[in-house]
Amino acid sequence: MKLSLVVPCYNEEENVAAFQEAVIQAFDGCGYDYELVFIDDGSKDRTLQELRKLHTAQRCPVKVVSFSRNFGKEAGLYAGLEHAKGEYISLIDADLQQRPELVREMVQILDDQPEYDIVAAYQDKRRDSKILTFFKTGFYRLINQMSTVKLHPDASDFRTFRRKVAESILSLPEYHRFSKGIFAWVGYNTHYIPYTPCERAAGTTKWSFRKLFRYAIDGIIGFSTAPLRLATYTGLFSAFAALIYLVVVVLQKLFWGIDVPGYATIIVLILFLGGMQLFCLGLIGEYVGKIFEQSKSRPVYIPKEVLTWEKDDE
Ligand code: UDP
Ligand code: MG
Repeated sequence: MKLSLVVPCYNEEENVAAFQEAVIQAFDGCGYDYELVFIDDGSKDRTLQELRKLHTAQRCPVKVVSFSRNFGKEAGLYAGLEHAKGEYISLIDADLQQRPELVREMVQILDDQPEYDIVAAYQDKRRDSKILTFFKTGFYRLINQMSTVKLHPDASDFRTFRRKVAESILSLPEYHRFSKGIFAWVGYNTHYIPYTPCERAAGTTKWSFRKLFRYAIDGIIGFSTAPLRLATYTGLFSAFAALIYLVVVVLQKLFWGIDVPGYATIIVLILFLGGMQLFCLGLIGEYVGKIFEQSKSRPVYIPKEVLTWEKDDE
């Protein structure tokens, strides 16, 4: 098997058949074999039924892994990598925003240029609103500054890579998976190509601002311990400021006989320090929470049903 296309699907009933059709057309006459690995991420609509139909028809080799509930796209990608048998593996969305033709180009690049192990597509222009672009740019600036791994601001999960890269990714057992960070962390030579995302074929995006925000926090916590240092620096700074203020107060009393003034100063300081303490406690809590969840060693996903095309697997 030359290529596995890993396709996470959550409530994509209207898209999966059209997606398969687009893939078959794009790879028509390519001269190598490929399989589709669909992951039904606990969809609430008829996605699984649609996928079962594709599996029965087998117009091209189709595998389906169905989750017992919604575990998120990251878990879907993980399951896809586990079940993909291809020499090359490609991650692509089911909504046809990412064209399968581009995957064929990616495969060509990997074939022609053995020095590259990953071909990643980045969005040449973002379609997000101004405010979302502002937050996304800010996020990338922040994480690239705080973390040792460097993320490409516009690159998504849309990429094709060699088997060894997939194995490296699977060797990271983390429960909270932030794939952009994981890709940067495992390394390998990456070739970036631009692409323009199309409109979603049907359905709506599964990302809300709240989900994206949570995902961004997970990314930072997962790939940097810099926030923990904030407590150290704030503590040092306020202790130093307090020392200076102490000297000032003592001098004022000794030389000018001024008594300690400042009801306002005290209130502001109490609030500021209290706030900072709670904030730092919260930060530590985020890390402790992650340790707690990881220490339970729960699986990344639970498969409810697996349909394969290989005879010996069935
Ligand atoms: N997806 C998933 N599980 C989820 C959310 C999304 O498998 O919990 C899939 C979804 O079906 C799609 C891909 O991930 O194939 C990207 O999702 P979406 O199109 O909503 O994201 P966007 O393109 O807006 O970033
Ligand atoms: Mg999409």
